[in-house]
Amino acid sequence: MPHARPVILRVALPVPLRRGFEYFAPPAMTRPPGPGTRIHVPFGKSRWRIGIVLGNSMRSELPSGRLKTAGAIIDDEPLFSADHFRLLLWASEYYQHPIGEVLFGALPGALRKGKTVELKSDRVWRLSRAGQSQADGGTRLGPKQAALLSLLQQSADGILEGEMRLHHEIGRATLKSLQAKGRIESAPAPGPVEAPRPVSAQVALNAAQARAAGQIAAELGRFQPFLLNGVTGSGKTEVYLNLINTVAGSGSQALVLVPEIGLTPQLVERIRARIGSRVALMHSSLSESERLASWLQARAGQADVLLGTRSAVWTPLRKPGIFIIDEEHDSSFKQQDGFRYSARDVAIMRARDAGVPIVLGSATPSMESLHNARTGKYTELRLPQRAGDALPPEIRIVDLRHQRLDGAISLPLIQAIDRELAARRQVLIFLNRRGYSPVILCHACGWMATCKRCNVPLTWHKRADRFLCHHCALQSRLPLRCPECGAGELLEVGHGTERLAETLSRRFPEARVLRIDRDSTRRKGVMNRMVESIATGDADILIGTQMLAKGHDFPNLTLVGIVDADRGLYSTDYRSGERMAQLFMQVSGRAGRAEHRGTVMIQTHHPDHPLLRSLIEHGYGGFADAVLRERRDAQLPPYSYLALLRAEHYRPETPQRFLDAARGMLEQRAGGLQIFGPVPAPMEKRAGRHRFQLLVQGNSRAALHKALRSWTQELEDIPGARQVRWSLDVDPVDLS
Ligand code: ADP
Ligand code: ZN
Ligand code: ZN
Repeated sequence: MPHARPVILRVALPVPLRRGFEYFAPPAMTRPPGPGTRIHVPFGKSRWRIGIVLGNSMRSELPSGRLKTAGAIIDDEPLFSADHFRLLLWASEYYQHPIGEVLFGALPGALRKGKTVELKSDRVWRLSRAGQSQADGGTRLGPKQAALLSLLQQSADGILEGEMRLHHEIGRATLKSLQAKGRIESAPAPGPVEAPRPVSAQVALNAAQARAAGQIAAELGRFQPFLLNGVTGSGKTEVYLNLINTVAGSGSQALVLVPEIGLTPQLVERIRARIGSRVALMHSSLSESERLASWLQARAGQADVLLGTRSAVWTPLRKPGIFIIDEEHDSSFKQQDGFRYSARDVAIMRARDAGVPIVLGSATPSMESLHNARTGKYTELRLPQRAGDALPPEIRIVDLRHQRLDGAISLPLIQAIDRELAARRQVLIFLNRRGYSPVILCHACGWMATCKRCNVPLTWHKRADRFLCHHCALQSRLPLRCPECGAGELLEVGHGTERLAETLSRRFPEARVLRIDRDSTRRKGVMNRMVESIATGDADILIGTQMLAKGHDFPNLTLVGIVDADRGLYSTDYRSGERMAQLFMQVSGRAGRAEHRGTVMIQTHHPDHPLLRSLIEHGYGGFADAVLRERRDAQLPPYSYLALLRAEHYRPETPQRFLDAARGMLEQRAGGLQIFGPVPAPMEKRAGRHRFQLLVQGNSRAALHKALRSWTQELEDIPGARQVRWSLDVDPVDLS
């Protein structure tokens, strides 16, 4: 008998190399581990790492003396189903990203570190016998403890441990201290979580909603993409809820992706209230163990709904029934660094694989999705009217030319704010620029505070008393005098949200002004509290960046002022017009959702700008027609396909040389492709590195991808490839 030849495993490691690593299978193995199984492998000098098996074979290209033997196998069963594994391989190939980083990126942190896969049974907290009997006496309690006690008095069945922090903001310390006092106890949750009764009743859909939901439901069990094109407040969310209910009722799962959960807590609450607690969340502000729990629940089919942001698209589902992408146009679905995937596009691929319908919802669909609807790839469903009686807001242009301004606010806008406040209604003033002023200038010599690492003006943050570079986060103090001429008064030029809040507080001293931007909501839970105080009427004037543009429903808000429309009108990026229009429509959608008609006032120095006019006169649909015509004439996406090769280095020659070489390689195989560059990136320098890029455009996706495949292999071998930081962005959404 010849010796049995040892099996060779191909293993992916979380390293930026576009290949698998080979190892002899461990000797004690009964059968080779399947693709998607984690295994310990030696890597580098006497180090062990966790890898994921890609496959096995009997032969290796390498001489057998060079192969090491793998260590222990971690999982009894592969982590991913065969379908899911195929999706990950596809994504690695489509986005030309190293397979190891793709696979590990799809795992929650705890599994990346080697934690074993087991669903711990959940625990509940409830009153102890002692806690029940002395419900109103006994030892003195702190306010948090008292709140917890009264919460548990209202919950006869106890409260799941995971819910405590997530929904009641009760931390471990409070639980432990009351437990130590003998007032509460923890116990295993009774059995697997069974579907609890929904808390709030179904809403009866209106005719348009019912038609949309019916058409989608008719395709359950089949792949079919839908574009749910409905104005803000038209009841898209109700359509989702209806479908989720149907799907959950038949024992399958819904995957719901939203741009940013922190910004849409109302959506989470609505789903929970309607569907019950079998909703698993997946987003970045969860703890590692919460993410693991959600991942495992979704994979085991214990969650009816997986609701999450971009990365949730990689979570395995036992029985997918429907995919829903809310605000499908939002650019946060595209990851902008590392593995640059589009969660929306991956979800479409995944839905196709799984044979289930996918719903892309938006009031302002992306040009890609509109194009797909017009060419028949997607079925478009429209909800043209707001649900209930709310009328669309009235849009008014404020021509800023020759207007006197108070800070950044014109007299007509001031008067309008005055009227709304007098009627005890709320006002939202939108300015997508945080900080106090975007420029600080010396009045004597013209010196300007700039970030030396990025060559852009520094933003002055008055409250924090420092300059901030919004591109590289560099911080510095304000000099007392001009560093250039030593004299000179330093002028604050331009307006950010901080300054706007100052202006409006001065102008309306009685009004309660609330500023909502990334700076004012940095601490956890603050955003939720602010949104609550708006809902309860504890704020009169809201000043917000795009954080406040989405998702929220403030019935008493009747006036939206857009301070600066001009910034979005002129930009080098071909998508900036689309983005501006989407943002305007989203912000405008905040006005007048209930019984009072809303008004939107747009301040601009360019009241006749064609994009602005088409948006105001023909709405988003007419605007989109104009943009799509432009794109077709210029052969830009969605009429062509792009890939962007970026490179950066501290010395400008290095990335240029790399991209020149890259261009040369691509030209040899570039049948039907157009190559532009290398050119400096629109943002030429960031954090001290000079940035260059090469744009590749193809009229056929297949041809583009065929060329990219072999190209990226060779890029790694360009002399100097190790020196530059380079990345390939397939279907880029941001060309800066
Ligand atoms: P969208 O997601 O399109 O912005 P929502 O689903 O949030 O819209 O609905 C906007 C408002 O209208 C919400 O307050 C919602 O409760 C209400 N609404 C939606 N559909 C109906 C309906 N069929 N009947 C009554 N109210 C509805
Ligand atoms: Zn000066
Ligand atoms: Zn900087």
